[in-house]
Amino acid sequence: MSNYVFPPAAVPSLPIVGSDARYAVSRIFCVGRNYHAHAVEMGRPVDKSTMKPFYFTKTPSTLLESGATVPYPCGTTNYHYEMELVIAIGAEGFRVAESDAARMVWGYAAGLDMTRRDLQLVAREQGRPWDLGKDFEKSAVCTAILPVGNLGILDKGAINLQVNGETKQTADLSQLIWNIPELLADLSQYYHLQPGDLIYTGTPEGVGAVKSGERITGHIDRVGDVALTIGQPE
Ligand code: MN
Repeated sequence: MSNYVFPPAAVPSLPIVGSDARYAVSRIFCVGRNYHAHAVEMGRPVDKSTMKPFYFTKTPSTLLESGATVPYPCGTTNYHYEMELVIAIGAEGFRVAESDAARMVWGYAAGLDMTRRDLQLVAREQGRPWDLGKDFEKSAVCTAILPVGNLGILDKGAINLQVNGETKQTADLSQLIWNIPELLADLSQYYHLQPGDLIYTGTPEGVGAVKSGERITGHIDRVGDVALTIGQPE
């Protein structure tokens, strides 16, 4: 028994569909621009023939289960939703071949990469890290993990998001610039992927701001439905 001066923080984890066990989360990777129309709306179009995917990370303690109410976050006046397919890794993998990617996928979830857009854009323009804009408390919203079962590698399926019932984002997973095997092959060039790693795969076009009192709902075919309510500022 270790003798810590403070009690260690709880292990971040997510429920699992159809099980009482939980999926312990060790890292959260997020893909930057991975839908063409979103890259264009952010003013940074992607040319896959000359560019590679890029990533940022969120601290696992930022994880928040779908269905919660969050206080409107501090430090921003432009709090954005980003609806995303989340991959839950279930095997170790380093320099994974695209043809070997399926063995890496333990399950899928529907996630929200909540973003302080004003802070992210200041950082982007000044060439600084994105942490203030992306890696803040309760910013990685996620449903229960759906075990992969017979789903295999998801290469199509509707992904959409509503605010107070009004559709804001609607796209299809087939529009991912870098698909799941390509992402796993690329990311595993830089990290030893391991069980407990989540990968937020990027958001389609239509990102926007939410205000206190609004409710976000999102859907991915065959994966699940995510929800988040925006409370008052702290
Ligand atoms: Mn995102």
